[in-house]
Amino acid sequence: MHNVLPQWTPRVPKWKLRRLYESDAEGILDTELLADIGMTLLLRCEDILTVQQAQMGEVVCPVCRSQGVGSLLPRAEKLHCPLCGWSVSWRSYRQSYRRQQLNAGGAVETFRAYVKQFPKAKSDLEKMQAIDRLIHEFHYSLRQQPDQPTRSVGVNLIEGNLSSVMEFLEGLSYNAAWEAKVQVASLAGSVR
Ligand SMILES: [Zn+2]
Repeated sequence: MHNVLPQWTPRVPKWKLRRLYESDAEGILDTELLADIGMTLLLRCEDILTVQQAQMGEVVCPVCRSQGVGSLLPRAEKLHCPLCGWSVSWRSYRQSYRRQQLNAGGAVETFRAYVKQFPKAKSDLEKMQAIDRLIHEFHYSLRQQPDQPTRSVGVNLIEGNLSSVMEFLEGLSYNAAWEAKVQVASLAGSVR
């Protein structure tokens, strides 16, 4: 149990997302890929929130998932889980998430919303919507705050550097066939 570090979920590769959107646009949605990406993003968002909590002094034990392990202060030397005996230095723990694009920055609510919404999404359309909303959130915040584009939701979730992820998302948003479906669905809803 000693020196075990959390296994952070890697970001989603671009090719997977592209294939998902293409399959959707072609009307043969790859539901396996949808579930796969949706789950990866869920774990990734949870990791981001876990790191955010840790930075505020609330570390979750990576072994038994106990909350609030030890009394963590920025200078505390050792993290210790009284339940399962896990322990690691705060320094190693902190290094495990450095440069992993796991900082929530100003988008905590965005990640929280996805963690809440995705598991509740029943239909493929709802799942697709939740994913699309999440990864494009960064576009909107960029437009609203053009002065603060240094960090973005997309880079937290999709492999690549800021500019390559931005370019990728631009391409995807033109291809969002589900938007038409949502309109049809909401029109159908309003007719009822
Ligand atoms: Zn534990």
